[in-house]
Amino acid sequence: MNEERRREILGAARRFAEEVVRPRAAELDQKPDPESCFSWEIVERGDAYGLRTLTLDPAYGGAGADTLTTAMVIEELARADVGVAVVFAQTLKIIQALQKAATPAQKARFLPRFREDPRFLLAIGITEPETSSNYIIPYDHPEAPFRTIATRARGGWILNGCKHFISNGNRAQLYMIFAQTRPGASLVEGSTCFLVEQGTPGFRIGRVHDKLGERFTNNAELIFDDCFVPDENVLGEVDGGFEVLARFFPASNAYAAATILGVAEEAYERALRWARTRVQGGRPLIEHDLIAALLAEMKMKLDAARAYVYQAAWAADHPEAWEPTLGALPKVFASQVAWEVVTAAFELHGGYGFMKDMGTGMEKLLRDASTFLHSDGANRSLLLKAARFIRRAEPALVWKSYLQATA
Ligand SMILES: Cc1cc2nc3c(=O)[nH]c(=O)nc-3n(C[C@H](O)[C@H](O)[C@H](O)COP(=O)(O)OP(=O)(O)OC[C@H]3O[C@@H](n4cnc5c(N)ncnc54)[C@H](O)[C@@H]3O)c2cc1C
Repeated sequence: MNEERRREILGAARRFAEEVVRPRAAELDQKPDPESCFSWEIVERGDAYGLRTLTLDPAYGGAGADTLTTAMVIEELARADVGVAVVFAQTLKIIQALQKAATPAQKARFLPRFREDPRFLLAIGITEPETSSNYIIPYDHPEAPFRTIATRARGGWILNGCKHFISNGNRAQLYMIFAQTRPGASLVEGSTCFLVEQGTPGFRIGRVHDKLGERFTNNAELIFDDCFVPDENVLGEVDGGFEVLARFFPASNAYAAATILGVAEEAYERALRWARTRVQGGRPLIEHDLIAALLAEMKMKLDAARAYVYQAAWAADHPEAWEPTLGALPKVFASQVAWEVVTAAFELHGGYGFMKDMGTGMEKLLRDASTFLHSDGANRSLLLKAARFIRRAEPALVWKSYLQATA
């Protein structure tokens, strides 16, 4: 994507974030019912700005944006509201993964529908109540399989089980669902990815989780009770679910990192404004050396995190530059930096930050900043994953594509 086109897309993302998202973010965040924090109007307006179909192949009417441009767009959205950024990021990265793994027939079935419907969102169901770090690290032994099971039936598969914490869970039209297809094998060697449509008999939404932060996004349980999925909805190979995931994680990690970076940038900007206007000891806070040094440290951390995220996003499209820890560590680093920067900004606002009614918005940013310590893989589990890549102890075959190339 050339620089001019990237600037054009980023301009549209910024206008959407500032004109549509920011004016409503605080009000939606405060709604006590988690489902009411979401807004179809905002999704539809984002679609009109071309953001929902940003990563869709131009052959299907999308912008075909690369991973770096998409990460920058997500960062822009997250400055205005982390939850809006996540709703779009999920859809953008799942479309990328789907385009890599889908057959021509699957693309012809789903991509035109995705293009045409401004409410067509996507979700990915991997996490289960008992299964999370198991697939993040991952554990390649039979004691840690997916609990969601797919059993062979005539012309397809029967799914039984439960996924939880799923972003866009109750809002998506199409889901990538991972289930165990080889009993007795590890989830790395014995799981398969299925495309499941909303409204499929035997598939229902359970509870919509009430969350501390990132409230615009709805997260939900997905429940499968003898749900029939036809063979033509298998994405990738049977028992090859991890090949699909291996191609999903690089962009996914970069987008998660870009999201939390946007939250921290917003906190830094607010801290800077506050330090310039709040006067103590007869001078603005920024004229006090300890505060000035704190702001310099916050900026340094943000710039380092941004460089790392952009490196990973760029490398996700350039196999020659790809290195597998880039699919795990940028989110860890960005979320740690974000937590440090946001708590520093919070402290810098004094009691004005703690009071919800003083208009600083700091308590929302603090809650939002906690999101990515856990989302997209708990940080310590991602460190363990990276450590396995460093030690080259990962299962050689299924991770081949992850190690060699992601494009
Ligand atoms: C806001 C949000 C959105 C999400 N969206 C989605 C989604 O769209 N789709 C989806 O599939 N999932 C989603 N998830 C799930 C997310 O990826 C998992 O929640 C996350 O991986 C943590 O899972 P867990 O709580 O089960 O932690 P566990 O795996 O139980 O881990 C608990 C703690 O133990 C640590 N730990 C685990 N194993 C080890 C070990 N061997 N050594 C040392 N420490 C270890 C972990 O690092 C963590 O700190 C979402 C989660 C959140 C919070």
